[in-house]
Amino acid sequence: MVKKILLWIVGTALTIVVLLCGVFAYWYFGSTNYILTGVPVLNYHQVNNKFHTCLTMKPDSFEEQMKYLHDNDYHAITQSEFNAYMSGESDLPDRPIMITFDDGYADNYEYAYPIMKKYNMCGTIFLIMNLMDTKGYLTWNQVEIMGKDGMEFGSHTISHKPLTSFERDDARHELVASKEAIEAHLGKPCTFIAFPEGKFNDMVMEETKAAGYKYGFSVETGRDFPWDDHYDLDRVPMFEGPVSFEHFRFRLTYSAFCSILWKTHKYFEHTELMHPLAAHIPTP
Ligand SMILES: [Zn+2]
Repeated sequence: MVKKILLWIVGTALTIVVLLCGVFAYWYFGSTNYILTGVPVLNYHQVNNKFHTCLTMKPDSFEEQMKYLHDNDYHAITQSEFNAYMSGESDLPDRPIMITFDDGYADNYEYAYPIMKKYNMCGTIFLIMNLMDTKGYLTWNQVEIMGKDGMEFGSHTISHKPLTSFERDDARHELVASKEAIEAHLGKPCTFIAFPEGKFNDMVMEETKAAGYKYGFSVETGRDFPWDDHYDLDRVPMFEGPVSFEHFRFRLTYSAFCSILWKTHKYFEHTELMHPLAAHIPTP
């Protein structure tokens, strides 16, 4: 009899714990309060109708997403707002997001920028120096036009080779010379960098800081909080093949939750013992 009552108490207690965890998880992961859930930094690449690679998004889909952000009171934040938030200097508007593009494709000027303007959004484009003014990529003239109109820029290095593949001196050159070129064209400090392929190591971190960058972005999935390492910042990928509108909404809302799954998946993949389990962890 006593055993039965004890079991009943334990059962009830467990049920309550599970329910509370569920409520907490729903509130935490579904919340749009950035103080609790951080800032999602969306990561796009190409926006055009011509290519159908894993990096490309169609202009119509991009517009649908920007319209959704606009109609649902999301606020695209600037680099200085991001900096103020990350350094604890000031608050952000409600529902903050940051929009970023990697590689500096010409279609960012042709399609993405006009759509963003239409919906009152701003963003940051990470440029590759060796590809500027070449076919398919932005020209400095386009960068300067957008720069005067609310778009911002960051470095994606000179060559786009992973910085981890260089000796220290060459990595330093990639970091410093790209920063200087962007500053020379835009007349203001360049303090944001996206690491090519998201790759970095201790040497790269040291050189990035020494070069005067304040924020470094990887391609890991997640949101950014002030207490994160400012040179290992997550983003929310919007580029693996055709990201459907529902998928976009899911990632936008639940990126904190996605981040946990992605990180667990990656951790398992790189652990010998857990490796077979990795395939069973979804990466939504
Ligand atoms: Zn890239």
